[in-house]
Amino acid sequence: MATTFQTRNRAAPRIVVIGAGVGGLTTAAMLARAGYNVTVLEAHVYPGGCAGTFFHQGYRFDAGATLAGGFYPGGPMDIVAAQAGIAQWPAHAADTAMDVFLPGGVHVTRYGDERRFAEHVRAFGPAADPFFAWQERTADALWDLALRLPPWPPQRAQEIARVGGIGLQWLTQNLRHLDPRLAADALRPVAAHLYAAPAALRHFVDGQLLIAAQATSSSANALYGASALDLPRRGIVHLDGGMGAIAQTLAAAVRANGGEVCYRHEVARICFENGRPAGIETRRGESIPADIVIANLPPWSIKPLLSDTAPAALSHLPAAPRDGWGAFMLYAGVDGAIVPADAPLHHQVIVREPLGEGNSVFVSISPAWDSTRAPASKRAITISTHTDPRAWYRLRAEDESMYNKRKQLYADRLLAAAELALPGLRAAADILLPGTPLAFQRFARRVGGWVGGFPQTSLVRGWPPHLAPSLWMVGDSIFPGQSTAAVALGGLRVARAVVEAHPHH
Ligand SMILES: Cc1cc2nc3c(=O)[nH]c(=O)nc-3n(C[C@H](O)[C@H](O)[C@H](O)COP(=O)(O)OP(=O)(O)OC[C@H]3O[C@@H](n4cnc5c(N)ncnc54)[C@H](O)[C@@H]3O)c2cc1C
Repeated sequence: MATTFQTRNRAAPRIVVIGAGVGGLTTAAMLARAGYNVTVLEAHVYPGGCAGTFFHQGYRFDAGATLAGGFYPGGPMDIVAAQAGIAQWPAHAADTAMDVFLPGGVHVTRYGDERRFAEHVRAFGPAADPFFAWQERTADALWDLALRLPPWPPQRAQEIARVGGIGLQWLTQNLRHLDPRLAADALRPVAAHLYAAPAALRHFVDGQLLIAAQATSSSANALYGASALDLPRRGIVHLDGGMGAIAQTLAAAVRANGGEVCYRHEVARICFENGRPAGIETRRGESIPADIVIANLPPWSIKPLLSDTAPAALSHLPAAPRDGWGAFMLYAGVDGAIVPADAPLHHQVIVREPLGEGNSVFVSISPAWDSTRAPASKRAITISTHTDPRAWYRLRAEDESMYNKRKQLYADRLLAAAELALPGLRAAADILLPGTPLAFQRFARRVGGWVGGFPQTSLVRGWPPHLAPSLWMVGDSIFPGQSTAAVALGGLRVARAVVEAHPHH
């Protein structure tokens, strides 16, 4: 079938980005602005993938991600806006990030401002001070480094030299107040800083790390963990229309910069000539030529698109990820009267250990002021828990009635946990829509329901983005992993690497 896709600048390489997740769209917006011919192909009917927002019976539910960070001045989303030509994000700063409910009735409010000091002492006692002092000091040093966008892990000699240069400059500037334990932290878990910690603090850190690093304190890398725990201090925002507004704003920026974003275009094959991508074929049979392909997909989704031309990095890929998570979701449309006017819009409830599987849940409520999210006087609520996706697939294949029973059991567990934060939730709900990891395969094409990228157990856990000549990867499988801000940061790095590797004049 003949292609109808535009070539804006005949002298510039043609780039196809597969997937309109936040990582793919960030990369696309930057490259379109840099003058490349960019086409984004998205299988679904709207952008955002795991950070999309969908319509259902008058409500707009956030499908996966609900907590938006990185919008502070100089933060990742601020840099993306400046470099992609986005005048303003449709974002409103939140006064308080979230409430965390711990086993035994302890309740902690996560403030970004100085109220956090008194709150930590109230919840955990003064014994927690050294932990938070370490965490904030470490995060300050590392965010500064991360925002200089060193390519990580470096792949080419040029990148190794650049990492060395940025590292040296950073060391020279920070040497005077550098904590020597920083080097040790590169190789140990967060738990190294929690030896004498009260149980409540460990529960709190484990719960927060599970959502931010996909691993608890016993295995989450200390440097990564310290930065991830900093999210509330850096500030969070609520977006007009829900999380999907990030991807929609980025898609508009791709177009404003001369690129294209095409929905209902599922890529079936990346075609190779002489060891490089020459184009792609869609499931509908269209062929689109490309000089460079950027896949906004996990490696497990890229490999089937390559038939027998898989680059070395993908040829020994195990059939499924060895670790990582799926998500069980419950979308609830409720009467807004159950939401206290002064309550934060995010709540983490930790019922008991082990975390996940309904024992810990994250609850996010649409803002009262956002009339686009729910019918009058109602609110759209997204509730989620980490779950092993393999169990759901097994059960679905072997015994559908047990699969449905388990779905109901998990929905009940999520409701019971969420009721601790929002009493009366069940009775106030007019819609309760559960979703298993299979829904993430169906709606975000996440093979095996695997979401959230790799658990951040080491600083080199994520994949480097360069897979083969002219073939790149972006999204939550590459460093720095999951979250909208992290995949945007990864997208900035990949766009910069593509410009360096494929310059045009
Ligand atoms: C339940 C849950 C809760 C989360 N909570 C938060 C949170 O509160 N805050 C936060 O910041 N992050 C959160 N995250 C993580 C965040 O959503 C993800 O890390 C991030 O959105 C992933 O972006 P990505 O760029 O990797 O792309 P993805 O979101 O994976 O999007 C990839 C896109 O590619 C498309 N696609 C796939 N295959 C093809 C193909 N063959 N052809 C064309 N298109 C294709 C898909 O349809 C999809 O739109 C959460 C994730 C989940 C699942």
